Amino acid sequence: MHFSCQCGYVIHDTADNLPYKGKIIADQDFNTLWDLIEKLEKQHIDRIDVYNKIHDLLMREIYQCPKCGRIYIENQAQNYDLVGFQMESPEQQEKKENRSLLLSAYGEKWKGHLYAEWRDEKPDWWCDHHGIIMPEVNIKMDNLVFDDYDAFEKRFYEVFEELKVRDIIVSASLKANGKTIFTWPGKK
Ligand SMILES: [Zn+2]
Repeated sequence: MHFSCQCGYVIHDTADNLPYKGKIIADQDFNTLWDLIEKLEKQHIDRIDVYNKIHDLLMREIYQCPKCGRIYIENQAQNYDLVGFQMESPEQQEKKENRSLLLSAYGEKWKGHLYAEWRDEKPDWWCDHHGIIMPEVNIKMDNLVFDDYDAFEKRFYEVFEELKVRDIIVSASLKANGKTIFTWPGKK
């Protein structure tokens, strides 16, 4: 799903690990959450039931517009419609760090993923180039686009080594025309 912020920026919710999305848990629900965690630690037969209940507790989502910093919270009492909030002053809004309140608690040390994909034939929804390397990490890195396969693959392994050494990825994959060329960690 996606929606437009008041400022015009379109907020997309079509992937996992979004840096501008979070989940809210009501203070009134914390006892239930701890009870469920306790239950998970013991032997129990209703594992699915427990997961479903945790999921219910974490249903309420929150987004922050990366451009203007507006906050949107789902209203569980009203079909999870989004309610928007704006910062109190332009000074607050100008601070870059105020516009990324939903980053992982681990900040730049958050361990993300590296994806890369190449397509000889580009479907309509594909980007303007044949190959794209997408580092999903909390350090500043641009998506990298290529039209030459060898350059694409070479750069992928460079980025992979760099992120692995920095210890900020838990997985990496390289695909070409639908086939997996490389995955890390390898299959056991
Ligand atoms: Zn906005």
